[in-house]
Amino acid sequence: MGVMELIGPLEQALHAARALVLADLVAGEVAEADVVSLVEDSVAERRWWVEQWPDGATFVAGLIAQDVQDALLDRYGRWPLCPVCRTGDPHALDVEPELGPDPHWVCHKVGVKVAAVGSLGSATGGMSSS
Ligand SMILES: [Zn+2]
Repeated sequence: MGVMELIGPLEQALHAARALVLADLVAGEVAEADVVSLVEDSVAERRWWVEQWPDGATFVAGLIAQDVQDALLDRYGRWPLCPVCRTGDPHALDVEPELGPDPHWVCHKVGVKVAAVGSLGSATGGMSSS
C-alpha cells in the first residue's frame, strides 16, 4: 500500500517545521519547557491534518508557527514582537501566507517581510529585553 513511503516525507516535514518554530522561540527567548510542549501539541495535531492531506506537507511550518503564536497569546502575550516598529504599541508579527509554502513573519503595519519562519534570530539579532 505504500504507507511507509508516505510517512517518511510527512514526518520529515513535521520535523523540519518543529525545528523552525523552535528556532524562532529560542530567538525570542521564550523556549521554555511548557512552551516547547505547545509546539509538540501543535505538531501532533498537524500530523493528523497532514496525514489527511499529504499535499499540505509544505504548509505545516506556517501552520505550526500560527498555532504556537495563538497558544502563546493566551499564556504569555504577543509573540513574536515586531522588531521593525520601535514606536507605538508593541504588536506581533503575522505569518504569511497563512496556508502556503515558504512562510514568513510579516509586519502588517508597515507591510514588510521580517524573516522566514525559522530565521527570526538572524533578523532581530536576538531580542534583548533591557
Ligand atoms: Zn511592525
